[in-house]
Amino acid sequence: MKKQQPTKKIIFHSEKEMPLAPYSLGSMLHNRTGAWRNIRPEINLENCIQCGICWKFCPDVAIYIENEYPVVDYTYCKGCGLCAEECPVKCITMVEEEK
Ligand code: SF4
Ligand code: SF4
Repeated sequence: MKKQQPTKKIIFHSEKEMPLAPYSLGSMLHNRTGAWRNIRPEINLENCIQCGICWKFCPDVAIYIENEYPVVDYTYCKGCGLCAEECPVKCITMVEEEK
């Protein structure tokens, strides 16, 4: 596995030094946001209409399309529930994460 880059510190001495919008110092590949999750999306593919909306809305790009169906990458899924909220046929269920 590739060694993770050390995180740099950002220090702003005043509001004027701050950027207009938030930004990340590293590749999102290093930010394994799956560790934040306490609920996880489960997709019932039998009811999936392959619209791709869940893929489009996922803020962590944690959904990819394989054989025309969505797949969740739990390394990056933070469990926000947006995909379940936006799915037009409600075939994504958020379930309690197993500890
Ligand atoms: S729960 Fe949030 S982070 Fe996880 S796949 Fe759905 S939209 Fe992406
Ligand atoms: S939003 Fe729902 S129906 Fe559309 S691709 Fe995703 S899981 Fe399937």
